[in-house]
Amino acid sequence: MTISLPTSTRAAVLTAHGEALTLQEIPLPAEIEAGAALVRVACTTLCGTDIEIWHGKMTFPGMLPMVLGHEMVGEIVALGPGTSDALGRSLAVGDRIGWSESTCGQCFGCTVLREPVACSKRGYGFLQRSDVAPYATAGLAEYAYVTPGAAKLLLPEEVKDTWASMAGCAAKTVLRAFQRAGGVRPGSRVVVQGSGALGIFATAVAHLSGAGTVITVGAPAERLAAARRFGADAVVDIADGSEATIARVLELTDGQGADLVLDFAGAPSVGPEAIAMAAQRGTVVVVGSTGPTGQPITLSAIMGKELTLVGSLNGDISDYYRAIEFFRAFAERMPWDELFSEPVGLSQASAKIATMSALGEIKAVIDPRLP
Ligand SMILES: [Zn+2]
Ligand SMILES: [Zn+2]
Repeated sequence: MTISLPTSTRAAVLTAHGEALTLQEIPLPAEIEAGAALVRVACTTLCGTDIEIWHGKMTFPGMLPMVLGHEMVGEIVALGPGTSDALGRSLAVGDRIGWSESTCGQCFGCTVLREPVACSKRGYGFLQRSDVAPYATAGLAEYAYVTPGAAKLLLPEEVKDTWASMAGCAAKTVLRAFQRAGGVRPGSRVVVQGSGALGIFATAVAHLSGAGTVITVGAPAERLAAARRFGADAVVDIADGSEATIARVLELTDGQGADLVLDFAGAPSVGPEAIAMAAQRGTVVVVGSTGPTGQPITLSAIMGKELTLVGSLNGDISDYYRAIEFFRAFAERMPWDELFSEPVGLSQASAKIATMSALGEIKAVIDPRLP
């Protein structure tokens, strides 16, 4: 046709864990397959996983060089034949879409379990070498190739780029965790462990879901102050250690503990603390514990309190869609924009990973269109 498409893209590439990302020109696929799209990225928000991969705390053997960033939105510049979004809505050049991981639809997890999070071939930008086709599927690039199997959503206008980006991983992960727990009983007591992006968003979700008391447990003080602005009725600083943290939560819950405890922290002590802070017949959701080990938990306490223990892993297209609708429904109810830093270009992505790693900001925002 007459319009010439870009054949390569600028990208911030991770070549070695712990080292600065390098700006490189990497190839784009020459042909756009049926069901795929080429997108000009408008916004990428960094997630804790990006930071962990950068550090090398989370590694995928043989996957370097890679492009980080898996929470992003952009504008379609080209489409393969028959490409639609996950709800079957037809897409056109110029449409604003968000997209997330790809699933195969054919494996045991996809077909028998019917759980996309259990797909054995889940595809992410960080599971794609930037020197192997289709090269650029992640967010820290000016253009990204959205594969046929990727979950794509045509975005409603009311949902800002930053919010929609965050919906792609952090927000959907939180909503799935609440859903896995069976939701929030109106008037009940909820403890959120963690005051990072997930913990603060979870605080808001608990509040907006009708919790009677939301207690956010974390650090440092500025993060806990932010949690208060997102609906925490009380906050507990973990600086004084496990025993003091547990004692304070029990004090705030009339000695009973919380009906629902959600781990968005992942520190080694979250398991035993969650069990100790949970009320009789309470529910504990483990969702932030990506590390290899945690401190031992007391099985007799789980039995004695008749606790329900639930694991929750990331989220799927359903959770992603609901996260978008959540932001749309509650756009005015929380100061969402406080979660996000001022957007910067790809050249500053490395610096942003460093500040996020040092808890200097909650969610860094990269706009690859900026210089
Ligand atoms: Zn699958
Ligand atoms: Zn993520």
